[in-house]
Amino acid sequence: MSMDWDTFSTWGHRAADWAADYHRGLRDRPVRPALEPGKVRAAIPDSPPEQAEAMEAIFKDFEDIIVPGMTHWQHPRFFAYFPANAAPISVVAEYLVSSIAAQCMLWQTSPAATELEGKVLDWLRQGLGLPEGFSGVIQDSASSATLAAVLTMRERALNWQGNKQGLAGNGRLRVYASAEVHSSIDRAIWISGIGEENLVRIPTQGPSRGLDVEALQGAIELDRLEGFIPAGFIGNVGGTSAGATDDLQAAIAVAKAEGLYTHVDAAWAGSAMICPEFRHYWEGVEQADSVVFNPHKWLGAQFDCSAHFVADPESLVKTLAIQPEYLKTQGADGIINYSEWSIPLGRRFRALKLWFLLRGHGLEGLRTMIRNHVSWAGKVHDAISAMPAMEIVTPPMLSLFTFRLVPEALRGDAAALDALNMRLIEAVNNDGRIYLTQTKIDGKFVIRFSAGAWTMEEQDADTAISVIAEIAANLTDQGGGAA
Ligand code: PLP
Repeated sequence: MSMDWDTFSTWGHRAADWAADYHRGLRDRPVRPALEPGKVRAAIPDSPPEQAEAMEAIFKDFEDIIVPGMTHWQHPRFFAYFPANAAPISVVAEYLVSSIAAQCMLWQTSPAATELEGKVLDWLRQGLGLPEGFSGVIQDSASSATLAAVLTMRERALNWQGNKQGLAGNGRLRVYASAEVHSSIDRAIWISGIGEENLVRIPTQGPSRGLDVEALQGAIELDRLEGFIPAGFIGNVGGTSAGATDDLQAAIAVAKAEGLYTHVDAAWAGSAMICPEFRHYWEGVEQADSVVFNPHKWLGAQFDCSAHFVADPESLVKTLAIQPEYLKTQGADGIINYSEWSIPLGRRFRALKLWFLLRGHGLEGLRTMIRNHVSWAGKVHDAISAMPAMEIVTPPMLSLFTFRLVPEALRGDAAALDALNMRLIEAVNNDGRIYLTQTKIDGKFVIRFSAGAWTMEEQDADTAISVIAEIAANLTDQGGGAA
């Protein structure tokens, strides 16, 4: 029999019990499954069922086919990419949200969701130490927030005519960002029609890998001389590869003096700004026009939840709002329709999980989690730097650093060192106790260590240290670079 709201109650309980067991048992599972392309696909029938199947059978297949093929992002020893935390309280909120299943595009389609969104984003603004005057909206992802900001740069530079006239014949716009920004910036530049050749990548310098502010000034001046239209600047706080961070104070001062719209991408690092001692990383942010960070990365509000703050919502709305008759709200003034602040019309009710999270843990509880991660990443960093033949490539930025194995015999042989480190990360990930990912720093293949899983404990940092030491020692005992 197919499911109705009576049987839903039984299965809702089953799902909740399953979820709690799954999370309690995660530490005993490998973080990443053995990678066998096509295995799951082969286990799923090629055609859809004509007749309803029993929920018992569907659930069993979920457990037998799907779960063993998942990478466990909520695993306490997930040290890859950046975290994508889902605090239990946020999961409960999402259960409720998906039960109500509202479309929150307009105030009148979801009055409580809209008003809560405004309130919790203002709570977050205060939590981050951003000044009054910033207004927030929840976007689905940092990629969307950055696209919205780049479109605003475009419209503002074209005197709000770009949407109407298109870009042809309007002169070439330029956007400036460091060479270390995330690929979502490239894509926003593509999609906005500004074009990749007009994303001016400013070189970075020093251990923070922040952009060279003099080079930024020089690039803008040169572009003006050559007839380009400088439109915007995108600042980077906690870049994905190695945590690259710009001197926002200086860079935004230059950009603003040149009349540019400024957007800051702090997708990962922004969560840490609830701790006053880390706010030096984004000093100057209060001067930005637009700032994005993802509570769905580190803070614990499950994906998707990207907090986008703007100093002047009018510019965003002028860029994105469109009001056909069927979307007009009659008889209500002074309301916000958040779909006018974002690219998709349809919107999920994302504010509830933030509200639950902030109330259920308090800023102080969340600060403790962030501080623990930073300190445990520091512990792993110190242990790795003391291991024979290990080199720290980039120092910790919050809870992220990069390293690689450099045995004496292979020093100077770039290709052999890259191959050795590829073997190291593959062996670590096949072992399954921890999960790491790689990046390239100055052309070298290096390994990232990024701590941030919601359930991580100090014992998980200790496990990471012993796994890395053990597997690196095995590889070097086998002759280091011998392929
Ligand atoms: N910016 C940075 C620095 C990131 O690390 C990421 C993702 O890891 C993004 C932007 C894109 O975030 P989203 O997946 O929310 O679009």
